[in-house]
Amino acid sequence: MLIHLSPPTSSPEIARIRVFTYLICAEVVATVSCPRCQQLVDNQAITCPYCRVTLKAYGHPGIPLHRATGNEYLCDRCVYHEDDTCNFPQRPYAKDCTLYQNIEESKLALQQQPYTLSCNARVKSWLQRYQTWLLLLGLLFICFLIVVSGG
Ligand code: SF4
Ligand SMILES: [Zn+2]
Repeated sequence: MLIHLSPPTSSPEIARIRVFTYLICAEVVATVSCPRCQQLVDNQAITCPYCRVTLKAYGHPGIPLHRATGNEYLCDRCVYHEDDTCNFPQRPYAKDCTLYQNIEESKLALQQQPYTLSCNARVKSWLQRYQTWLLLLGLLFICFLIVVSGG
């Protein structure tokens, strides 16, 4: 029997491959690396199924319990340690913490904020520039509604 191993060229085959790739990616996104055993685990898991370390605080999947790896302390990379606003007793030697906020991630989020602000500013300036036309259009629309409801 002859088996053809040609690459998929028809669109249903490509669509199937895309869906399959998407599912694989979605699976990867939904997993995190365990800070103790480094195995990939569900990001909603309360404890690691491999080494049983606690991954969520108070047994709630919505409260992540951040853990330091190796000999590091979380406070060394935490925003609240840097700005001296943390009064947790485990500071500066926290190995696990629910409030830990990574400095680099915070800086990245701050850098992305100006883009959001500029989007809002652009919408505002567009509304200001065309407010007369928008007002006229609104009035015309109201007149149109009155005419339609009257007829
Ligand atoms: S919030 Fe947690 S990780 Fe951050 S400085 Fe305080 S104890 Fe350390
Ligand atoms: Zn583990």
